[in-house]
Amino acid sequence: GARVEVRSISKIFRRSRQVTQALASVDLCVEPGEFICLLGPSGCGKSTLLHIVAGFIAPDAGEVRVDGIAKTGPGADRCMLFQAPTLFPWLTTIDNVLFGLRARGAITSESRRQAGELLELVGLGSFGGHYPHQLSGGMRHRAALARALINRPRVLLMDEPFAALDAITREAMQNFLLGLWGRERTTIIFVTHDVEEAALLSDRVCVMSGRPGRIIATEEIALGRPRD
Ligand code: ADP
Ligand code: ADP
Repeated sequence: GARVEVRSISKIFRRSRQVTQALASVDLCVEPGEFICLLGPSGCGKSTLLHIVAGFIAPDAGEVRVDGIAKTGPGADRCMLFQAPTLFPWLTTIDNVLFGLRARGAITSESRRQAGELLELVGLGSFGGHYPHQLSGGMRHRAALARALINRPRVLLMDEPFAALDAITREAMQNFLLGLWGRERTTIIFVTHDVEEAALLSDRVCVMSGRPGRIIATEEIALGRPRD
């Protein structure tokens, strides 16, 4: 994984006459291979911070550096954002995974092989030819994760990725993510408003609060994680 440095980030949204300061001077440093959670109530700027790190929106002040290099836009430094996943219903599972390839162009037999391997990794090895409606919710979720992983991200940004899942599927996905992180040591920044989920998953929890949002506390987590 890569090191992510967030330096004095501020963000103001202006919509006609409405001005919202979402973030004020946020600093955060995430070490290579660290798994951190951003925890806080709705509206404190968690998603905004994640979108800035992803390069989808520009901050008004401050900068993001990935392995020391200033962020200029989405993707080039292999920071991948994973949100509530939607697969294209008209594509098979494996074609959905291949669609995630940033450098699109001709699909080679090598990229097909990689996509097949990723489907194996998420437990869907024999479902590559199925369409999304033929999969369960949890299976679709894992397929979408494979789509995010095909670019071998060095930083995985996850915005409440499991919030819509039922409790059993969520627990399965949490364990799956921990297993994956244990093997790959991808740097993960995971947004949640669920205290238990934050404590279960991460090395470190950064608590955000207020309007504009700030990081008000940072806790190292000493709990043993479940292992697969
Ligand atoms: P969280 O993820 O913690 O719920 P957000 O980052 O979504 O918080 O939002 C932080 C604040 O910024 C909120 O007040 C929200 O209404 C505002 N906001 C977020 N995105 C936009 C936008 N595109 N335009 C205007 N205001 C926005
Ligand atoms: P959901 O994800 O919608 O909560 P589940 O993941 O528990 O539901 O699975 C719903 C159905 O899909 C079940 O019938 C289950 O047996 C089937 N299923 C889930 N994953 C697999 C798999 N890897 N192989 C075969 N069947 C599966």
